[in-house]
Amino acid sequence: MDTHYDVLIIGSGAGGGTLARCLAEAGRKVLLLERGGWLPREPQNWDSAEVFQANRYVSPDIWKDKNGNSFQPGSHYFVGGATKMYGAAHFRFRERDFEEVTHIDGISPAWPLRYSDFEPYYAKAELMYHVHGLRGEDPTEPPASSPYPHPPVAHEPRMQQLVDDFRSQGLHPFHMPVGVNLVEDNLPFSACVKCNRCDGFPCLIHAKGDAEVMGVRPALSATTSLTLLTHAHVQRLITDSSGHTVTQVEVEHAGELLSFSADLVVVSCGAANSARLLLMSANDRHPRGLANSSDQVGRNYMYHNCKVVVAVAHEPNHTVFQKTPAINDWYFGDQDFDYPMGHVQMTGKTNGAMIKGYKPKLTAVAPAWAMDKIASHALDFWLQTEDLPLSENRVSVDSSGQITLSYTPTNDQASEQLTHRLEAVLDKAYAGTHIAEREIYYGSAMNIAAVGHQSGTCRFGDNPSTSVLDVNCKAHDLDNLYVVDTSFMPSISAVNPSLTAIANAIRVSEHLIERLS
Ligand SMILES: Cc1cc2nc3c(=O)[nH]c(=O)nc-3n(C[C@H](O)[C@H](O)[C@H](O)COP(=O)(O)OP(=O)(O)OC[C@H]3O[C@@H](n4cnc5c(N)ncnc54)[C@H](O)[C@@H]3O)c2cc1C
Ligand code: SF4
Repeated sequence: MDTHYDVLIIGSGAGGGTLARCLAEAGRKVLLLERGGWLPREPQNWDSAEVFQANRYVSPDIWKDKNGNSFQPGSHYFVGGATKMYGAAHFRFRERDFEEVTHIDGISPAWPLRYSDFEPYYAKAELMYHVHGLRGEDPTEPPASSPYPHPPVAHEPRMQQLVDDFRSQGLHPFHMPVGVNLVEDNLPFSACVKCNRCDGFPCLIHAKGDAEVMGVRPALSATTSLTLLTHAHVQRLITDSSGHTVTQVEVEHAGELLSFSADLVVVSCGAANSARLLLMSANDRHPRGLANSSDQVGRNYMYHNCKVVVAVAHEPNHTVFQKTPAINDWYFGDQDFDYPMGHVQMTGKTNGAMIKGYKPKLTAVAPAWAMDKIASHALDFWLQTEDLPLSENRVSVDSSGQITLSYTPTNDQASEQLTHRLEAVLDKAYAGTHIAEREIYYGSAMNIAAVGHQSGTCRFGDNPSTSVLDVNCKAHDLDNLYVVDTSFMPSISAVNPSLTAIANAIRVSEHLIERLS
């Protein structure tokens, strides 16, 4: 195996997997190092008890919180990264999300680039990840240069009823953009079978637009430019004596320590692990960690202020693919609350085993059939409020490399306001409905362990004293080091982060290709 490449990418998720495809298709010699393996294709992919109760695809990592308490983060280390498990909701950030926005708890900072700078890359990202949607329904939607590449996924009857009920109250529900390889008007020839396992499960039949299926695999099969090494856990980046250039990447692989080099090195390990790798690579020239003269590496961690609201209604909900409606009517506030509240979308349809996974203690004695009965009447909503990038919300590491994630929530009041509004609308539509809140994603709580939307630990900016990366996502402090996962985001908005990470990776790929030529 060669040891020197044009570009070496560490991590194969939304950022790294997409970048690898772009660079390999442009003929660059790329090495992609991924600490995980291929996610096994096995019947358990779609087994709720295995996925939600046994946490079959969750890494064994143990991190600490700011009080020193240990917890197991919901991390997924596979080719494709966290996108193997994601719900494939593919949103563009709103135009105002790129500007300074005042929230109830403070300021969400402006980006060094505007929405118009990202727009062409959002269009390419939507094409690459098979995004289905319909423009013109969502009042907060930013302008787009092209329609969605694929038609919206149709609402099933219960979801259409919900949409009609919302519309009758003056709201503007819209078809949620989702990345699935679906041909709804010709299902016998569609890769996606429109099942109820899209959100939180891997797709057994590889029909979901994840970074393995849309990034890594196409690049491996169409070119010889990409070399992928799985189970390759990068330990440390070594610089030359000036500290300006990464000269070696040290990797643990099959019990051995290997070393690779490249003209350009790209870190894309996910926001927490990218910060960890940079901090663990401290040396004489970079005593606080690589690229960390600003002391910003690891800081400004965000992951959304999220909540799941389950409305158990009298009428049954037979929906299979539930992730079709979403609402942004309260995104930037309303006449009674002049601050952003956030975004509402449906989660994948829950079942009894999933509810037992979220609430193991509470449901310990409840038989699965009883939980299934509740789930069959449930409407499951995902509420997402922007959290602010606080300097003290940060990733740090000890000498053994163990991560401490210090986090204090922000915008709780905005999240509560959003919940009240949804509950009021549901109360009006379904009088007598019992609304119950539950907390989802991993374990029993949408707490610090729910790291799915982690971002912001290496933010980009014009000022090297307040940011880690420049506008091309190159470290201010080094000549050949880049970061392209969700770490680069100065703020997280209230919509899902992947499409922006993917669009950014495509944008950075153009810069890297130009630089190499
Ligand atoms: C259950 C779930 C549902 C979600 N749903 C959505 C959704 O519907 N829409 C949306 O936009 N987002 C969703 N997300 C979030 C989305 O998956 C992430 O935002 C996205 O994957 C982040 O991309 P990334 O490149 O930053 O990191 P990742 O995708 O996590 O990739 C990082 C990769 O780096 C590897 N790695 C880490 N450290 C090392 C190392 N030292 N050496 C080598 N490799 C390393 C990891 O194994 C991993 O493969 C969801 C996430 C989860 C968990
Ligand atoms: S809905 Fe389609 S893409 Fe999603 S898990 Fe099912 S088959 Fe796969």
